Amino acid sequence: MPESLAYAAQSATSPLAPFSIDRRSPGPTDVALDILYCGVCHSDLHTARDEWGGTVYPCVPGHEIVGRVTSVGNKVSKFKVGELVGVGCMVDSCQHCKPCADGLEQYCDNGFTGTYNGPEQSGGGNTYGGYANQLVVRESFVLRIAHDEKQLAAVAPLLCAGITTYSPLKQWGVGPGHKVGIVGLGGLGHMGVKIAAAMGAEVVLFTTSAGKRDDALRLGASAVVVSKNADEMAAHAGSFDFILNTVAAPHNLDAFLVLLKLDGTMTRGGAPASPHPSPGVFNLIMKRRRLAGSLIGGIRETQDMLDFCAEHGIVSDIEMIRMDEIEEAYARMLKSDVKYRFVIDMASLKQAA
Ligand code: NAP
Ligand code: ZN
Repeated sequence: MPESLAYAAQSATSPLAPFSIDRRSPGPTDVALDILYCGVCHSDLHTARDEWGGTVYPCVPGHEIVGRVTSVGNKVSKFKVGELVGVGCMVDSCQHCKPCADGLEQYCDNGFTGTYNGPEQSGGGNTYGGYANQLVVRESFVLRIAHDEKQLAAVAPLLCAGITTYSPLKQWGVGPGHKVGIVGLGGLGHMGVKIAAAMGAEVVLFTTSAGKRDDALRLGASAVVVSKNADEMAAHAGSFDFILNTVAAPHNLDAFLVLLKLDGTMTRGGAPASPHPSPGVFNLIMKRRRLAGSLIGGIRETQDMLDFCAEHGIVSDIEMIRMDEIEEAYARMLKSDVKYRFVIDMASLKQAA
């Protein structure tokens, strides 16, 4: 492969800047693509700044990737040159453990390979993500896109924000007759509202930003609660079947646990850099409530999610940015000022590099 253009962080404190990477030459089961758009996930920021620990530098983030196939290996049967495809948070896994056999590659017993920050299955080298103009991925981690080509940029965020909300909503059986809370109206949260509503649930959105009220209703919530307002919160006590918490910062979980009914579950998708204050035990035991977690989704389920979203006309609400605007986008993300996902137009990478 010729050298690929990319944007990388060289350390936890240096801003992302132009960088060039060597992608592997496509092997017999690989698909090579030109990246057209890449969504900006809060996990990109956590990783670029080493907030979770373990970041390997240089770090090229980006795991909400859509693009066009430029070549395929001779054993690739599902994809052809010229097709539009997506790549999400994983590019490989061991493929022989029980979770992999069950289509749950994200829970691979031997550790999946992240689209960025690796390590590669063979040899432990690093992987570089979608803030780049090209990518090479094994066929079994490439997704088909059924949406119209005109919607492509707004499809990119489905590859992480979409699947990370779809998977727990499916796992906990959300559907008609369920009252579902979504906490936080950011990238994940706005997809959670759209998808839970499309699944037929009654959706209540919890936000710290009163100014997002109208947007939440437009996206499919039937009610909006400003979570700093105790009276608004109390009005929903003991009434939820399921709450999906997408908040990217530590906060008081008890305020939400008390809103669950008997046997209700709150699942955390949000992954703050430092722990939440520990929730009190009585809010859990008095109504047999559960506090759970969920990690992205498997490849088969990601395909189901993309097809579900295409059928229901669901895409992300996006704000397009140039590659060289990434640091500004991160700063706005930290102020909860995202409506509701930044997507990088990769055509801008050439000018930025
Ligand atoms: P995002 O776009 O920045 O949205 C996070 C939202 O959380 C904000 O818009 C804000 O919504 C709310 N929020 C932020 N700070 C808050 C605070 N101090 N107190 C209360 N609410 C606050 O982020 P994202 O891309 O959706 O990602 C959210 C989290 O999920 C990140 O930690 C990310 O790493 C994690 N994540 C996890 C997985 C997984 O597999 N589990 C996958 C992807 C991402 P309001 O303005 O509405 O309050
Ligand atoms: Zn993500």
